[in-house]
Amino acid sequence: MDASADTIPTALLDWYDSQARVLPWRSPPGAPATEPYRVWLSEVMLQQTTVAAVGPYFAKFLARWPTVSDLAAAEDAEVMAAWAGLGYYARARNLLACARAVAARGGSFPETEAELRALPGLGAYTAAAVAAIAFGQPATVVDANVERVIARLYAIDEPLPAARKPIRVRAERLTPAKRPGDFAQAMMDLGATVCTPRNPRCLLCPLADHCIGRRDGAERFPVKPAKAAKPQRKGRAFWITRDHAVWLVQRPGLGMLGGMRALPDDGWSARSDGSAIAPLVGTWSAAGLVRHSFTHFDLDLQLMLYSGGDLDRLEGDSGEWWPLDRIAEAGLPTLFAKAARLALAQR
Ligand code: SF4
Repeated sequence: MDASADTIPTALLDWYDSQARVLPWRSPPGAPATEPYRVWLSEVMLQQTTVAAVGPYFAKFLARWPTVSDLAAAEDAEVMAAWAGLGYYARARNLLACARAVAARGGSFPETEAELRALPGLGAYTAAAVAAIAFGQPATVVDANVERVIARLYAIDEPLPAARKPIRVRAERLTPAKRPGDFAQAMMDLGATVCTPRNPRCLLCPLADHCIGRRDGAERFPVKPAKAAKPQRKGRAFWITRDHAVWLVQRPGLGMLGGMRALPDDGWSARSDGSAIAPLVGTWSAAGLVRHSFTHFDLDLQLMLYSGGDLDRLEGDSGEWWPLDRIAEAGLPTLFAKAARLALAQR
């Protein structure tokens, strides 16, 4: 067996005994376990939310619904309203479903990770956390903090998400039979306060002597996946003016920039063969390229200026003549605001 599988938990628990964060949902190191309702409630609230933000909500929920059965008996709307501001509202719905399932079995949570996992809305992480922290089961708890600590300790070179498997294997090997709940919380605390994403404080770390990643530049672990190149799209936008006003349209409600005011365009297909139909027959000249990056693709938008005269045909379209001197008030999305700036610079 890896010698570090014994020495690392011991070193970490020694550190935790003096450095544990004091949190409202926690028992002090070595004290009897916190009751499962509190552990579960705090872990659900802490998903995607900071410790500081959770504090007042945790206190409010406990004051209003002191037991899981009290929570189970609450009206849905009451609980949703109490959750308002914490975000990710599916968590509140899952919270209620789980509370009612626990109430239906007499108000006590099951003790094993597998049984906890079978409750509605309880994912692998929360099931392991409740099993370890509330019931002292040797369950391995891996959140983003733990993932970072383990990836650094063992200098796991594989990028995420493939690295999750070796990280879990290493974490399982380290999970001690004694004090697994404190061990899980110690790992979380180490990740949150010492082995931080940026500038880890290795000089203060109880695991520094065992840490391989530290010698290798700790911040590069866990290794991030290579960014996939974004698809490139091309398109054209049309700038048509009359009497110091520009023709703007309302984009369809669904789809990119839905419902926003915009220049007419050709729908930005992947091709740039110029075959898309311009809104008017007449003389068009290319005025330059607007480059814009969306989350899922990059766009090169060719701006076209109209210099024909057949403007009455536009009137039937769903658009409006917008005064050029009030273009800043049109609420154009960034892409079209860039295009407007380019067009105005050429006047
Ligand atoms: Fe993280 Fe540094 Fe500790 Fe390694 S020595 S676990 S990199 S804080």
